[in-house]
Amino acid sequence: MTPVGAALEAVEARLRAVVGDVRRDEPLARHVQFRIGGPADLFVVPRTLAELEAACGVLAAAGVRPVVLGQGSNVLVGDRGIRGVVVKVGKGCDRVAIDGTAVIAEAGAGLPALALQTARRGLAGLEFGAGIPGSVGGAVVMNAGAHGHAMDEVTEWVEVLTPSGLRRLTREALGFAYRTSLLQEEPWVVARAGLRLRVEPAAQVQARLEAWLAQRGVTQPLGPPSSGCVFRNPPGDHAGRLIDAVGGKGLAVGGARVSELHANYILNTGTATAAEVLALADLVRARVRERAGIALEMEVKLLGEF
Ligand SMILES: Cc1cc2nc3c(=O)[nH]c(=O)nc-3n(C[C@H](O)[C@H](O)[C@H](O)COP(=O)(O)OP(=O)(O)OC[C@H]3O[C@@H](n4cnc5c(N)ncnc54)[C@H](O)[C@@H]3O)c2cc1C
Repeated sequence: MTPVGAALEAVEARLRAVVGDVRRDEPLARHVQFRIGGPADLFVVPRTLAELEAACGVLAAAGVRPVVLGQGSNVLVGDRGIRGVVVKVGKGCDRVAIDGTAVIAEAGAGLPALALQTARRGLAGLEFGAGIPGSVGGAVVMNAGAHGHAMDEVTEWVEVLTPSGLRRLTREALGFAYRTSLLQEEPWVVARAGLRLRVEPAAQVQARLEAWLAQRGVTQPLGPPSSGCVFRNPPGDHAGRLIDAVGGKGLAVGGARVSELHANYILNTGTATAAEVLALADLVRARVRERAGIALEMEVKLLGEF
């Protein structure tokens, strides 16, 4: 249910009783890396895992399914924003505990910081994540990856808040595949993840991490706001290569432009609207379909009203 009017006010009052930071009509452009998107009716920022759990309990009791945001690095929010409730899982829900090769990270922990921290300790397995600007929760949901590695290789279990309470799911139950997991289909909020890394000399792990970061620095446009790769790679090929091959680099609609450096990135050059990004993505997709015969699928998640 998407609450409006008095129902929204009732949910707001119950959320305020359990979470310190609840905002009305919060502009989502502030919370996503594309820097685009209209307001959320209610924006809830739990400052601890206990607050997150309590908020999920209130929403489940009211029959409201929230939209969950991590670092907002893989989403495009519509210009008219999101009706109902958005829950931001970030600061406060970001504690990390390391015991030997076992890492327990709250969902709001930043993936790059965790990759750096574990590499420094001589724990290998997360180096690929140093350049992925998401949260641990978002990375598990997306099965984020790079350099031939992804979250499924290191994730042992995930704890999710379901409408009927906390559940722990083992790796096998998470249905990981290329840039996806079963978590994308469920109304669950990732609370914590248990990762298993490997012992390796710290210098070696750090060298690999730095080499991969350097490689990203020259192959990907890391300055202007974006949501990373827009399209999933089709089997056996790269969306960026296909878009480049059909002359997609530099195509623009309004303030949205296909990167000249990496054709699978759409950049917000400053004034882009979600409608412009979507129109540009449609243009690119149509070109690739007409000229290369391949139907590209979006990797970026579209949220809210466009
Ligand atoms: C410059 C740049 C480079 C990038 N490079 C890569 C890359 O190399 N490889 C790659 O895989 N990705 C890359 N990405 C995309 C993105 O960083 C990853 O997909 C990341 O894992 C998303 O995490 P997030 O916290 O930002 O999730 P968000 O963008 O906030 O959310 C993504 C999805 O996960 C859901 N979600 C988020 N947190 C939770 C939670 N706690 N519980 C339940 N659902 C949740 C959201 O509802 C949404 O559907 C890049 C993005 C940018 C901007």
